[in-house]
Amino acid sequence: MERAGEQGDAAPTADEATFAARHAPGCTTLDELDGLVTLCRACPRLVAWREEVARVKRAAYQDWKYWGRPVAGFGPADAALAVVGLAPAAHGANRTGRMFTGDATGDFLFAALHEVGLASQPTSRHAGDGLVLHGVRLTAPVHCAPPDNRPTPGERDRCRPWLSAELDLLGPRLRAVVALGGFGWQALLPALRDTGRRTPRPRPAFGHGAHVVLPAEGRHPHPLHLLGSYHPSRHNTYTGRLTSAMLVDVLRRAAELAELHPDGHSG
Ligand code: SF4
Repeated sequence: MERAGEQGDAAPTADEATFAARHAPGCTTLDELDGLVTLCRACPRLVAWREEVARVKRAAYQDWKYWGRPVAGFGPADAALAVVGLAPAAHGANRTGRMFTGDATGDFLFAALHEVGLASQPTSRHAGDGLVLHGVRLTAPVHCAPPDNRPTPGERDRCRPWLSAELDLLGPRLRAVVALGGFGWQALLPALRDTGRRTPRPRPAFGHGAHVVLPAEGRHPHPLHLLGSYHPSRHNTYTGRLTSAMLVDVLRRAAELAELHPDGHSG
């Protein structure tokens, strides 16, 4: 974890609003992209918030050294399925440094991924817990924890080049994407257009179980399946709006459409 902070201190241009737009499209590997995104300081409000949360901490986590930086995507570079959420949680991924790791939302998601055969274990506690994802990559349209889990449209748009580049680098292996919640759904469509995909107009409505197929064309030899699921937020799961069975069902459909076998390998 220290590595990224050391690099960030050596990259003053990361403060510029155009940092993502200037650097993301030139990345040639996901490793390069993941390293660069953790340096980004392009959104002053989010930088201040993520670092303030990391300094003050929640009482239960006083012994933790919070990550307090942008959180990169998590999962293999040859993933056939991507899951796109909203943004890191203040005391979840902003604490642990790994996407969806360390809070109730992550507990819900990883249990479902494990049931479908896409995660090696049902729990995700910290970045060194040995969890391995099979064929699926988890990411978010906003890489820094926002106050009240609500990024502004400007912050979403400023962060979009990271998502566009990530989807681009996953390349033709990527066959399906699950958007968790309306925010992820709306952010995903322009990011996919950035990669050369043609998306329907008017924009397809988000809903749990929504399914849109983007056709194969141009440099994309395969169609891409876009599926929607309610976000596994604490509110949605506590109220029963999203049950474990509902999330498992969407993930299982997405894995099948991505031609992933139960152990996650495409074939
Ligand atoms: S939200 Fe995205 S663009 Fe804004 S500072 Fe974080 S990583 Fe950079």
